[in-house]
Amino acid sequence: MTKKVLILGGDGIGPEVMAQAEKLINHLKSDLDLRVELETGLVGGAAYDETGSPLPNETLARAKDADAILLGAVGGPAWEQLPFDKRPERGLLGLRSELGLFANLRPAMTYAELADASSLKPDLVSGLDVMIVRELTGGIYFGQPRGVRNTKDGEREGVNTLVYKESEIERIAHTAFEVARKRSRRVCSVDKANVLECTELWRDVVTSVANQYSDCELSHMYVDNAAMQLVREPKQFDVVVTTNMFGDILSDIAAMLTGSIGMLPSASLDSDGKGMYEPVHGSAPDIAGSDKANPLATLLSVSMMLRYSLGDAELADLVSNAVETVLKQGLRTVDIFRNEGQCVGTEQMGDAVIAALT
Ligand code: NAD
Repeated sequence: MTKKVLILGGDGIGPEVMAQAEKLINHLKSDLDLRVELETGLVGGAAYDETGSPLPNETLARAKDADAILLGAVGGPAWEQLPFDKRPERGLLGLRSELGLFANLRPAMTYAELADASSLKPDLVSGLDVMIVRELTGGIYFGQPRGVRNTKDGEREGVNTLVYKESEIERIAHTAFEVARKRSRRVCSVDKANVLECTELWRDVVTSVANQYSDCELSHMYVDNAAMQLVREPKQFDVVVTTNMFGDILSDIAAMLTGSIGMLPSASLDSDGKGMYEPVHGSAPDIAGSDKANPLATLLSVSMMLRYSLGDAELADLVSNAVETVLKQGLRTVDIFRNEGQCVGTEQMGDAVIAALT
């Protein structure tokens, strides 16, 4: 069946990197029999300029109708003074919440060729391939009560609430095990069950979901130890599943291990496998329009889309292998260029990945 993919370029370098994704998908359609229908839409500052809203109704309707969404990046100095509800970021957050995208997948991979760019010693990170599965729509970022209030003693107190229902933990645990089945079948659940009752429940529920995945191995780790292990011996991990706030922090630690923001893809999924795929980086206004943006994070997001929403692991591997091939060939955009190999622009890098497919 033909699936629908909505492309939202957004702002800054977003449209430039997304043009490479579109070119790649069109090549997969014409030469490798990928059956998808592409649509485009407006989001972020570009949508605000055209329609007065960072998430026009038309874009939201198309996103709901699509099987997968590819998003470039939103934001930039031109829109920073707008009221909060008109800012480009509201477009992104609106999509995530309207589509119920509760599972955020952030892989951290270090290609041998780029291991020198990491803040850790190359042998610790070369070949690293960790997937952080972060719960995205619950936990302390959304729990009630929240706010700053006055106490009886006349001082202010700040309150946030860490709360998870069993059903919320169950669904993210299922996502983590399903992801692990497409990888090395090892899940490490990260919590703080020794101090926080809510994550004691987290541990309990993840353990019982694991009974349905006897082909996968489950371990548990406290978050402080996980942070330490990620920088001590990161290659011990396959899939890490954790709460919203712990995942926010751990995924940034894992990202730094890889050395370059231009290489990191991400996915946000609902319970039916529909997903929004985007590079981790922002709209990089400092290099927008100069053919300097690294498109590889976006092309790796296409690979994730093929794997998780379009069910085509073979094409997904083909795309990620092509990215590895161009790195082996010595091609580098300016963000990953270290005086060796050939420095190329966005367009040329996109073309090289397509050429490396065959
Ligand atoms: P940024 O990720 O846009 O840029 C940080 C630095 O990394 C810059 O020097 C930039 O040139 C470089 N960089 C980023 N992506 C690159 C790529 N693909 N190739 C080469 N170099 C790259 O973060 P920022 O500067 O903090 O934010 C800029 C704007 O992006 C802000 O408006 C911010 O709100 C927005 N933002 C959007 C998203 C998103 O859409 N998901 C995420 C983060 C930031």
